[in-house]
Amino acid sequence: MKEGALVVLGIESTAHTFGVGVASSDGRILANENRVYRPSKGGIHPREAAQHHARVAPDALRACLSKAGVSISELDGIAFSVGPGLGPCLRTGATIARTLALSLKKPLIAVNHGVAHIEVGRLVTGCRDPVVLYVAGGNTLVAAFSAGRYRVFGETLDIAAGNCLDAFGIKAGIGPMPMPELMAGKARSFVRLPYAVKGMDVSFSGILTAALSKLKQGAALEDVCLGLTETVYSMLTEVTERAVAYTAKREVLLVGGLARSRRLREMLEAMAKERGAELYTVPDEYAGDNGAMIAWNGVLQLSCGMVVEVEESRVRPRMRIDDVEVRWFG
Ligand code: MG
Repeated sequence: MKEGALVVLGIESTAHTFGVGVASSDGRILANENRVYRPSKGGIHPREAAQHHARVAPDALRACLSKAGVSISELDGIAFSVGPGLGPCLRTGATIARTLALSLKKPLIAVNHGVAHIEVGRLVTGCRDPVVLYVAGGNTLVAAFSAGRYRVFGETLDIAAGNCLDAFGIKAGIGPMPMPELMAGKARSFVRLPYAVKGMDVSFSGILTAALSKLKQGAALEDVCLGLTETVYSMLTEVTERAVAYTAKREVLLVGGLARSRRLREMLEAMAKERGAELYTVPDEYAGDNGAMIAWNGVLQLSCGMVVEVEESRVRPRMRIDDVEVRWFG
């Protein structure tokens, strides 16, 4: 590590992942330890997920620090996801972060989860000023930096794209992503579903309902999977393309859990090429929720003094990315 580099520990706990990471201001991720809560049936139960997080926290913390090769006294700050996310899950991570910050007498850093997805993407792919497509189980938005913030160009009006695909897979009995996409590869024909781009925004709940009813009416599961994935990815690509056209930026960055989708990458890649732009995709390790992204965003914030007092560190389940002043950008 470079002399004088800042080292920050980050805690992620917005939804099903409890993650701990360590990052340093010379741009290195020193450790990234993540534990994922997997419900035996159905979707995430917020309180059960929070209990999972509390249970795995000590082990994840120990493993993370030992992999990073730093002792707890060498940390310069403690960062945590302050929102958006599920209240009980956020509070569990925040409580651990506050306890560490108070007992170690280190600054506490409240990080926006969505901004952290973008910043770890910029760090590990090396792109500088992209149009960002952030798609996951809980979030779907297109954003780009302008005048001090990540501005939202388009977003979902109801459920997230990842949630739509996961929910379909679970209800159809094949399980969440990547199952619907893998099944789509075996399709023989395309089941047409409603395409719902409204202005710059997207809507997925009607498509989910329509896909489930096609299945009930006897359409082949593979064919519905193809119709569903192609429709969802086309909508995302269209909205991203319009943001690229509008901003004239030359980079497109794909982040969030759905960045693991091969087909979505293909579509975005083709679109970017036609626009004379380049697609950057966050690697799998940093695609889903993870502690390292919170640690890295913590480094960025600490380096420009963006810390909070414990008394003001209340979690914000509905926080937006454009609530954050991005002072470190450049
Ligand atoms: Mg996320």
